[in-house]
Amino acid sequence: MILVDRSDLTAVCTAAEAAFPAEGCGLLVGRGDRIVRVRQIIPAENMERERRNDRFELDPRARFAAERAVRGGPDRIVGHWHSHPNGSPSPSPADIARAFEPEMIWLIVAVTQDADDLPRAKPPRAFRLDARTGMAQPVPLRLYPAAP
Ligand SMILES: [Zn+2]
Repeated sequence: MILVDRSDLTAVCTAAEAAFPAEGCGLLVGRGDRIVRVRQIIPAENMERERRNDRFELDPRARFAAERAVRGGPDRIVGHWHSHPNGSPSPSPADIARAFEPEMIWLIVAVTQDADDLPRAKPPRAFRLDARTGMAQPVPLRLYPAAP
């Protein structure tokens, strides 16, 4: 299970809409194993240049900065998010093929255009992916604190 603050989830959706029609991405920092609590979302630029609308390459500088920030503390990089412009909130074959860290949580946000052609994020979904097995395992996502 993954617990995310409502405000953090909103920030992810806003960033995904801002990146449209390209894919947006960012890092999830938190703690916990069976229940992963996301405590911080770190923005990252999509470095992909050729296929920005259906691929992402998370800026390695953001990852290094995040690793520096959590060093020696209780938090770690628990995963990342990226968006699927005009796509589904499920891992693509390209995502699974690049999932070399099976413990990482992949938060995926589908973004579609509304009647006014404005990008609108759908509720994000979380997965664990494993390139070796080709498996995509859904991870239950809960808001923290729980909605009343
Ligand atoms: Zn993807």
